Amino acid sequence: MLELDRIVAAIAAEMKAAPDRGKVADYIPPLACVPPSKFGIAVVLADGTCHLGGDAEEPFSIQSISKVFALTLALGELGDELWRRVGREPSGSAFNSIVQLESESGIPRNPFINAGAIVVADILLGRFRPNEVIGNLLRFVRNLAGDESIAIDEAVAHAEHQTGFRNFALAYYMRSFGNIRHAVEDTLSVYFHQCALAMSCHQLALAGRYLANDGRNPSTGQNVVTSQRARRINALMMSCGHYDNSGEFAFRTGLPGKSGVGGGILAVAPGIASITVWSPGLNEKGNSQLGSLALERLTQATGWSVFEPRPDNYA
Ligand code: GLN
Repeated sequence: MLELDRIVAAIAAEMKAAPDRGKVADYIPPLACVPPSKFGIAVVLADGTCHLGGDAEEPFSIQSISKVFALTLALGELGDELWRRVGREPSGSAFNSIVQLESESGIPRNPFINAGAIVVADILLGRFRPNEVIGNLLRFVRNLAGDESIAIDEAVAHAEHQTGFRNFALAYYMRSFGNIRHAVEDTLSVYFHQCALAMSCHQLALAGRYLANDGRNPSTGQNVVTSQRARRINALMMSCGHYDNSGEFAFRTGLPGKSGVGGGILAVAPGIASITVWSPGLNEKGNSQLGSLALERLTQATGWSVFEPRPDNYA
């Protein structure tokens, strides 16, 4: 067996048996039904080789991981103008916090907290209707993963709409500052549907390849974004991808990562691999408890880190 296969299998076995699995999110009712016993891991290397473990082929709600794909599309449409409406600093606050918006005039700290992602959804609306934006987003991730079977879980989108009182509060509050420009219902329809994308670890790791490959999708050869933009998205994932747990995640794994309350994490080892882990139980900051541990184990075993000195790269 290949060394990496052995590492992935050992991590899957350890995580499947782990007794302390965190707490499954229940504020979006369908998420509460996902068994905490699930664990999946997918590592897709730059050469296209896939190493899968546990429930790697089972779709789950990607939730906030979708913020990476939405940001990528919005930057494609608006370019650096986007940064007039969203910041690039870690918030140090919970993912759904409203407190900073008052003193910072309705400009969210970064595109990965809910407020920032809602502004990104508003930017994507541009002159389109919500259904068109949702269709574009779905096509985009299907194209990235090379998999037409990827779908949106309408039951999750509906449940988010029914229970998303905080997201409504964030959107209306930002609208009062002029930083939401469409009807809040339309903007949130885009946001709730993107969060309800259902993807497996395998599909997500395939979709994340452009971030590990300096902006290029290795299977199509297509430049999804410029290398500078891919690097900047990775920088944001590293500094802001885990909310007020981002410093801890970077400390433990040394990689950019984006989490979601469905228990998934997309992590990037630039030039090496696109990685997804999934375990539905969350820690107290709303990030996958065993997912973070699994990535810590993987990076320890492989030595992957953006801080690994590679003098050849600077020659
Ligand atoms: N849809 C979720 C929400 O808006 C996403 C949050 C998350 O994954 N951290 O609350």
